[in-house]
Amino acid sequence: MMFSRLLSVARRQRTGRGWQNWSSGRSGAPAAEAHSVALPAQAQVVICGGGIMGTSVAYHLSKMGWKDIVLLEQGRLAAGSTRFCAGILSTARHLTIEQKMADYSNKLYQQLEQETGIQTEPLLSSLLRRMPELETLEIMKLVNCPETFTPDMRCIMGESPAVQGYYVLVGMNSAGLSFAGGAGRYLAEWMVHGYPSESIWELDLKRFGALQSSRTFLRHRVMEVMPLLYDLKVPRWDFQTGRQLRTSPLYDRLDAQGARWMEKHGFERPKYFVPPDKDLLALEQSKTFYKPDWFDIVESEVKCCKEAVCVIDMSSFTKFEITSTGDQALEILQYLFSNDLDVPVGHIVHTGMLNEGGGYENDCSIARLSKRSFFMISPTDQQVHCWAWLKKHMPEDSNLLLEDVTWKYTALNLIGPRAVDVLSELSYAPMTPDHFPSLFCKEMSVGYANGIRVMSMTHTGEPGFMLYIPIEYALHVYNEVMSVGQKYGIRNAGYYALRSLRIEKFFAFWGQDLNTLTTPLECGRESRVKLDKGMDFIGRDALLQQKQNGVYKRLTMFILDDHDTDLDLWPWWGEPIYRNGQYAGKTTSSAYSYTLERHVCLGFVHNFSEDTGEEQVVTADFINRGEYEIDIAGHRFQAKAKLYPVTSLFTHKRRKDDVELSDLHGK
Ligand SMILES: Cc1cc2nc3c(=O)[nH]c(=O)nc-3n(C[C@H](O)[C@H](O)[C@H](O)COP(=O)(O)OP(=O)(O)OC[C@H]3O[C@@H](n4cnc5c(N)ncnc54)[C@H](O)[C@@H]3O)c2cc1C
Repeated sequence: MMFSRLLSVARRQRTGRGWQNWSSGRSGAPAAEAHSVALPAQAQVVICGGGIMGTSVAYHLSKMGWKDIVLLEQGRLAAGSTRFCAGILSTARHLTIEQKMADYSNKLYQQLEQETGIQTEPLLSSLLRRMPELETLEIMKLVNCPETFTPDMRCIMGESPAVQGYYVLVGMNSAGLSFAGGAGRYLAEWMVHGYPSESIWELDLKRFGALQSSRTFLRHRVMEVMPLLYDLKVPRWDFQTGRQLRTSPLYDRLDAQGARWMEKHGFERPKYFVPPDKDLLALEQSKTFYKPDWFDIVESEVKCCKEAVCVIDMSSFTKFEITSTGDQALEILQYLFSNDLDVPVGHIVHTGMLNEGGGYENDCSIARLSKRSFFMISPTDQQVHCWAWLKKHMPEDSNLLLEDVTWKYTALNLIGPRAVDVLSELSYAPMTPDHFPSLFCKEMSVGYANGIRVMSMTHTGEPGFMLYIPIEYALHVYNEVMSVGQKYGIRNAGYYALRSLRIEKFFAFWGQDLNTLTTPLECGRESRVKLDKGMDFIGRDALLQQKQNGVYKRLTMFILDDHDTDLDLWPWWGEPIYRNGQYAGKTTSSAYSYTLERHVCLGFVHNFSEDTGEEQVVTADFINRGEYEIDIAGHRFQAKAKLYPVTSLFTHKRRKDDVELSDLHGK
């Protein structure tokens, strides 16, 4: 409403061709200000919808210097949902980006009152003074009007993956007034600069795909979302509707063995496996911010990963193949990724897909299958985003092929010191590091099945292998692995065990620890950036500059000292980090380490000037000299800060990459 008032004022004042509003009077709302003006043949931007969102985007674009803005409204400005808005501006939200949007909106609305000269609050109070009975009025009319909700309770913004230059800002989940200022600003920045000033991945349209758009899915999910908005969300809660949409071929087998499930991008993933003697019902019902009831279950899975061998179904990973007739595949990958992909056939490279600012658009592993063919593995929710990014940057060339093969492969992660024994037996091939070095990939037969892509990597820092199995062989290979694995103590494990293992080893994950505003240099991954690989790549200039100037934040691992696992509230993520008593950043993820018997948190440490609050360079020395505390719900716990993984956690001969990583962290 404020933006529309402002825009109305601006329109009356403006003589030149600035933003324009044509009202056609199509909706039921009275088109009081309808104009019969011909639409222009073209404009820099056309905004459809004159609610608080459309007008906020128009306002911010105009503030950023865009002049040729057309806003189309079928009825009257702010006569849609915005008209019914109760005017509540919530200022406390637990989700970081939404909090930022709300804070900005709050400040902006106060400023807008000054800009427009409309004194809403004084006007209202003088009105109430003059007619005090207004305060006691009964509600005479109950309004029933549509409002937009999204499958994950978070709004949707960003550029469409299908149509370049088509931007979306919708789905405010009944908080449009609170978010409109910030959301309009971020979208306007995106349109003007090509990216917003904050990492808004959690709100990006590309976190969804066609799979979340079926009418039945939306109907069921949205009905669940609405009451949840006002619910207290405990850590690791899951939606109940829209489930079992995407599953691994092993779903029923794992379910029958006690798998409890969580969902990511529509895919069911095992959290942990409930042993037969546990009370399933009690487990389902427990909701807590303290020590969870799966603690012992996950502990035994972690122990098995450390001492024997576990299998985790990780089929939800996004998998792409890039092939070409000549060198096109290599050339485009070299341009889009920071590491050097011109490696011998069979090698796997961990690398970042960076933006111009050097931030992570994606973090993935790429195996060179042949001279002209590559297999890329990305996080589950990268399926649309990564695809759109690759397509946007790939040349139109019929000899260069990008294929989404996610559905074609079941992925099993064999973790633990005995994984090598299981696989040697099943493949009749020696699998020790001498014969099958780390970060190596080879198509092999496992049991009766041929063409299994075996990779010596685990995503947890433990020894083991990833098996990418053509789906028709999935059940056979799984059965063989479990059968042969019996004598090596094999068992199923889930993502909670994986989380504990990867966090205690200081492995950062995209989407949790890394985002579009974090660079490899800020998280100690210089070894994955090859500035001298002989060609330019996206983000190279920004990284070169950062290398010269230093970083302004640094990913750090914290081990909590005086935290009682049984009695104290647990850290989950988003906890404030204090350095020498001063706020220095927030945690990005945390887990209980069953090996260290302590909680471990990962988070970025900043160096805010005590005088001005401005960010200053963060050096290893700055990190090492600090005394740290992690604030959990108002109680501060002492923590040891580390820039390198705890070496003793790597019981096996560490992989080349780990060594590089820890060497770097140690510097
Ligand atoms: C009863 C109620 C109370 C609420 N209370 C609060 C609150 O207290 N605090 C809060 O933060 N949020 C609240 N909300 C939510 C908030 O009002 C909405 O999130 C927000 O107004 C959505 O703004 P919008 O611009 O996306 O949509 P709208 O305001 O609906 O604007 C969309 C506009 O697009 C126009 N349009 C649609 N199709 C076309 C077309 N084809 N061509 C041209 N124009 C078109 C429509 O006419 C409309 O004007 C409330 C919502 C409701 C319903």
